[in-house]
Amino acid sequence: MSVKAVVGANWGDEGKGKITDYLAGESDIVVRFQGGRNAGHTIINSYGKSALHLLPSGVFYPHVINILGPGMAFDPVAFFEELQALRDKGVPEPQVRVSDRVQVVLPLHVLFDEVEEERLGKAAFGSTKKGIAPFYSDKYAKVGVQVADLYDEKRLLDRLERNLVFKNVLLEHLYDRPPVSAEEIAAELKDDAEKLRPFVCDTSALLYDALAQNKRILLEGQLGALRDPDHGIHPFVTSSSPLAGFASVGAGMPPGSIRDIVAVTKTYSSCVGAGPFVTELFGDEAHQLRERGGDAGEYGATTGRPRRVGWFDAVATRYGCRIQGATEVALTNLDVFGYLDEVRICAAYEVDGRRTTDFPNPATLERAKGVYETLPGWKTDIRAVRAFGDLPPNAQRYVERVEELLEVRIGWVSVGPNRDEIFRR
Ligand code: GDP
Repeated sequence: MSVKAVVGANWGDEGKGKITDYLAGESDIVVRFQGGRNAGHTIINSYGKSALHLLPSGVFYPHVINILGPGMAFDPVAFFEELQALRDKGVPEPQVRVSDRVQVVLPLHVLFDEVEEERLGKAAFGSTKKGIAPFYSDKYAKVGVQVADLYDEKRLLDRLERNLVFKNVLLEHLYDRPPVSAEEIAAELKDDAEKLRPFVCDTSALLYDALAQNKRILLEGQLGALRDPDHGIHPFVTSSSPLAGFASVGAGMPPGSIRDIVAVTKTYSSCVGAGPFVTELFGDEAHQLRERGGDAGEYGATTGRPRRVGWFDAVATRYGCRIQGATEVALTNLDVFGYLDEVRICAAYEVDGRRTTDFPNPATLERAKGVYETLPGWKTDIRAVRAFGDLPPNAQRYVERVEELLEVRIGWVSVGPNRDEIFRR
């Protein structure tokens, strides 16, 4: 049995898409278990550059079955747009299955995301406004709609009417907007529901059989550990758990089946939106790093927003690896530091005059200051390197020091955004 999870150790954008795309080649099934179109994975391979939001990163391999699991926030409009974008690129029609239990992001959720961020004004969370928080609120308030409900008109209208009792009061009296009707929403969903039919199945049964047949299964996380609603930097978190521990729930598999957990982290830190960010750089230093980071600068794959950037935060990342239960780490973007004379690592925090290597709770995190180590840079382009021993000695030292601080083996080092710019260590 080979079940592997690829998850983020930080704030998201660690390069999980690239690692999943790489590992998907040796997988039979790739499953997304949480999140929706609010974040994007950038993948660069022979089809060019693609930003995937909902679709699992195995869609570039015709042999892979790609599953959108019940833990996701399923947006039918975005789903068909993404499939079409792949066709337009010449990608062979991928094998895709959508859980009959996954719940549907309604236009109503998107509307609520927009009006609430507008109401919050300066205090807004920096939501991507894809309806994700209102969607998960409805799911846990038990007023959401499952994909299976789309094929039962009476049940669908009943679900929507229950939901709208509250929503319309808020729309009219809090947000000053016209009310919406269940019939209106049901009519909007109708066409997509029909188009969706061939993709829908009981994905838990499919996975159960796949496990019994020893298939190679890859579970793909969105965002990262520090966005977890319980363990992350509340309230600057996402609405579903991006943890490998949740992968079994969100995909529908036995918890003990997940043997390998690859936590992905970047050589530097990046973070989108508001919230505490201890190692943040500003001014020219930030600008230099932002422009050089990733494949085309550190700008959000979904929103295009400039990402905040900073030095590698070993305190936050060690915590992220622990919460994920990482069995190994994939370190991406090592090539990006090639321009620096010196590189810094945040090895500890100082909070209220005390030094700690434990990641504080969110209320305390606001007062944490980074304690840094400085290492010599390598000032070399390393994108052609395919073996650890061929890295410049200073780059090797950096990786080894990061590994020491994380207390988890760095098993993969990525030295460029393209599929082959990576090596096993
Ligand atoms: P994800 O959501 O975790 O998949 O991360 P994103 O796709 O949002 O951001 C990662 C960025 O880093 C993307 O622009 C990738 O193309 C890029 N990337 C991934 N690995 C590497 C690497 O080793 N070097 C460089 N330069 N870019 C990388």
